[in-house]
Amino acid sequence: MHNCPMPTRSAPTASPRKVPPAEAGTGNAVAPKSQPQKALEKLGLRRDIDLALHLPLRYEDETRITRLADARDGDMVQIEGQVTHSEVTFRPRRQLRVTVDDGSDTCVLRFINFYPSHQKTLSVGARVRVRGEIRGGFVSREMVHPGFRAAGGELATALTPVYPTVAGLPQAYLRKAVLGGLARADLAETLPAEFLSKNLPQPLSSMREALSFLHNPTPDVMLATLEDRSHPAWQRLKAEELLAQQLSQLQARRVRAAMRAPPLRSPVHGPQCTLQEQLLERLPFRLTAAQQRVGAEIAADLQKNVPMHRLLQGDVGSGKTVVAALAAVRCIDAGWQCALMAPTEILAEQHFRKLIGWLEPLGIQTAWLTGSQKAKERREALAMIASGAASLVVGTHAVIQDKVVFDNLALAIIDEQHRFGVAQRLALRSKMTQGGEEPHLLMMTATPIPRTLAMSYYADLDVSTIDELPPGRTPIVTKVVSETRRDEVVERIRSQLAEGRQVYWVCPLIEESESVDLINATQTHEALSAALPGTQVGLLHSRMPPAEKKAVMASFTSGQLGVLVSTTVIEVGVDVPNASLMVIEHAERFGLSQLHQLRGRVGRGAAASACVLLYSTGDAPRLGETARARLKAMVETQDGFEIARRDLEIRGPGEFLGARQSGAPLLRFADLATDTELLAWARALAPVMLEKYPDLAHRHILRWLGGKAEFLKA
Ligand code: ADP
Ligand code: MG
Repeated sequence: MHNCPMPTRSAPTASPRKVPPAEAGTGNAVAPKSQPQKALEKLGLRRDIDLALHLPLRYEDETRITRLADARDGDMVQIEGQVTHSEVTFRPRRQLRVTVDDGSDTCVLRFINFYPSHQKTLSVGARVRVRGEIRGGFVSREMVHPGFRAAGGELATALTPVYPTVAGLPQAYLRKAVLGGLARADLAETLPAEFLSKNLPQPLSSMREALSFLHNPTPDVMLATLEDRSHPAWQRLKAEELLAQQLSQLQARRVRAAMRAPPLRSPVHGPQCTLQEQLLERLPFRLTAAQQRVGAEIAADLQKNVPMHRLLQGDVGSGKTVVAALAAVRCIDAGWQCALMAPTEILAEQHFRKLIGWLEPLGIQTAWLTGSQKAKERREALAMIASGAASLVVGTHAVIQDKVVFDNLALAIIDEQHRFGVAQRLALRSKMTQGGEEPHLLMMTATPIPRTLAMSYYADLDVSTIDELPPGRTPIVTKVVSETRRDEVVERIRSQLAEGRQVYWVCPLIEESESVDLINATQTHEALSAALPGTQVGLLHSRMPPAEKKAVMASFTSGQLGVLVSTTVIEVGVDVPNASLMVIEHAERFGLSQLHQLRGRVGRGAAASACVLLYSTGDAPRLGETARARLKAMVETQDGFEIARRDLEIRGPGEFLGARQSGAPLLRFADLATDTELLAWARALAPVMLEKYPDLAHRHILRWLGGKAEFLKA
């Protein structure tokens, strides 16, 4: 804490700080935006209410002066005293050492970075006010880089808030902007009076009271109650947020309940079985219990005249595709069209091949749509889709383009849904809406989302989970190996190849520079080609034209290539059961869930499979603590849910879900796991509020979700 920047009002050497113009935050300024204004927007602080809800990270107590004799080591204190000594010393390094005496004791202030102006303010004889963390120093007690200014002047009457900020946004500017937002924001009561104390241990305070307090707490507050968010002001805030969440979910459910979709019931085929039964009969395997269960959940939804919005989550390799295929044939059997959209061409193509293999023998026609196909091919596909000749359409984003007109689409399946933005999901739905009816929606993901998070992330989504892998899979052995032991890894590749197996070698995606990324993969490709004479080594990266990618992928699938060097384009969905070894270079740069996805490319057949996580420490002597813990997690567990949980712990929910892009509302203040009492309160009252006080409910949702409310319908 002690090295956090001091509040600027006690930093005398600070250059004059810009102060926000009066209209900051209201969005009606016409002048070009200043840097701090842009920074405010970067933090998402646009509306007055956003500013008012931007809460301090911590507080500093500048309301009193502490006697040095009363200060304990580790205390953050403000003292006032006289400078009795000041010198620049050079051991162990150049620094300014200043002794201050407040009559009760003395303390040394140390500055490694300092300016002549520092020395002037802190010259011998000057009376100064100093703020910092007091520590037991070598000879006497000391403060390192404290804040300071001339003594005297008024003491603050409230604790000083320190806000989360970004570069280019000084605390003083932010503080002023927040206080302005707080003053202007509409914080009129949205909770009906009868809610304020219903089933709660203590009645809720008003929102204005709560926020004013959290931004400027009185000095007598127990800081711990602010830190653990148990203070009544926090209770109000969390109650508000949870209620907004419950209201919006409820509203989204009601909106959906009012929508209509074609009920997909299998026709009576007489002696002939349904297409589902025929498909099941032809499959080379039996469904797992989990596949059967989620299949039944989906089937039940599809029979209703309300559109299904279901998320199918299942670990890599858990067999989601066949569940999707069963849903598709149910739809087709009922006489409707089904579309399946995947985020990459490779993945879409894999689905296409697999589905053709399963569905063509049943007499089902499938159309293929992608951005890279030839005009003639595209025209033919579009015609088949428009006429209804194709009952299944598989493709990439091309599926949602304007030119695509369906004859009678009733089911849309989106694979790896997190790869698509909310806007794309909306586009898919709206373009396919016809005759007042909506398609059913099945979204699939291999990045399992913890239940509580799913509830707050998706306003209105039912979740099915495949929690079991098909039998006969051998566990993947994961090893963490230093890059310096590359040769051993190459040796290992040789032995796998000798057994007729295939190998993936994944190079990291360096986001800032795709070209470096490419060089990396190209060099590895050359090195491996040289080290493995007689083996064909393929190269796959994101810059290759789709046709070339396809060709490389096809020769790996057919077994012609022994090794495939690739950037992360293979991350999702690729299925080559003969591949038994995966090497991931610079594993320390990947997210845990991403490593898990990658690793899931092996261990798909009966062969014992392994994953080698190659790490590089760069110039450092050893791998950092966090990186080590992360890679260790990969060795310890193969459970995608557990990995997602740890990933969430390390990265936090925002980044985990990429929520910033999606604009989805996440809980910022409440915690579903611990605020159970408030959650129960919000759950019970949300329906009452929508029913009895619709206007208040509307205002409440607007306060918390603003423009994002629209997304809740996706
Ligand atoms: P994912 O859930 O990652 O999309 P896939 O649907 O690609 O997984 O399935 C992985 C592999 O497991 C495929 O080769 C698929 O044919 C096979 N598979 C799916 N279900 C079963 C099952 N019940 N028994 C055996 N193999 C199965
Ligand atoms: Mg898949």
